[in-house]
Amino acid sequence: MSADNKPRVGSVKQITSHSNPIVKEIKGLVAQRKHRTQSGLFVAEGLKLATDALEAGWQVRYLAIGPEARENPIAQKAAATAKARGALILEVNTAVLSAMTRKDNPQMVVGVYEQKMGDISDVIPEMSTTWVALDRVRDPGNLGTVIRTVDAVGASGVILVGDCTDPFAVETVRATMGSLFHVPLVKVGKEAFRDLAKSWPGTVAATHLKGSVDYRVPKYSEPVLLVMGNEQQGLDDETASVCKTLIRIPQVGQADSLNLAVATGIALYEVRRDHLSLEE
Ligand code: SAM
Repeated sequence: MSADNKPRVGSVKQITSHSNPIVKEIKGLVAQRKHRTQSGLFVAEGLKLATDALEAGWQVRYLAIGPEARENPIAQKAAATAKARGALILEVNTAVLSAMTRKDNPQMVVGVYEQKMGDISDVIPEMSTTWVALDRVRDPGNLGTVIRTVDAVGASGVILVGDCTDPFAVETVRATMGSLFHVPLVKVGKEAFRDLAKSWPGTVAATHLKGSVDYRVPKYSEPVLLVMGNEQQGLDDETASVCKTLIRIPQVGQADSLNLAVATGIALYEVRRDHLSLEE
């Protein structure tokens, strides 16, 4: 909103130079977490993500549209919506899109959005909810894939426990395939998370390689808190000790463990079994 309380309408700007300050700003957001944290902004590439963000009501700061997008009715509509909500529309050539994204074959639309991150007060353990907690997740692809899977099973959101990879890094955002705009994210410290787990009114199930319970056995009474360990170290002992059930996914063969995102997907489909059906 502007000072007179009327919705602020954005504008359109043509950029042809790589050294334009907005191009440099976007490059910084793509390349460095520091810039994303300081500005509270992030970059998402592609028209699908732009339409997802706009439909879900996320705030757009810039929408850069290349020559192809200017001929595309869906992209034109996205640009009109973003402009009506106060975004600056950047009309750029493919070389500028490449420079912004550091890619030889850039997408025809690149958006810059305001980050949204919840805190522990946003985790409401109501009936039929399932929250997924990730302990110190390090890999952007894993985090993005978990966010996408949480969306697919209709779970409530993702709790990032401790020092996690940046959910707003370009690789993470890309791996979510747009689900980032639909899945609430919450950041919580280790101690606060343990307190949450201790007071959780339903099932607290941690997936663990030393778990003695086959993940298909428990009755997951709701609300469910599903806890996943770090890619290298697994779940730390103190956190594991506050989880009521340690579940394990059976394995044969020589693999030590499953990939974190795969394990999350397998466990989530079991936990959410009663909510998922092919019937509309
Ligand atoms: N070296 C780690 C360890 O000792 O736990 C491996 C971690 S694994 C790559 C990442 C996370 O995925 C684990 O902490 C656990 O949450 C989950 N996970 C992977 N395979 C699993 C399995 N077979 N059963 C239960 N959880 C599993």
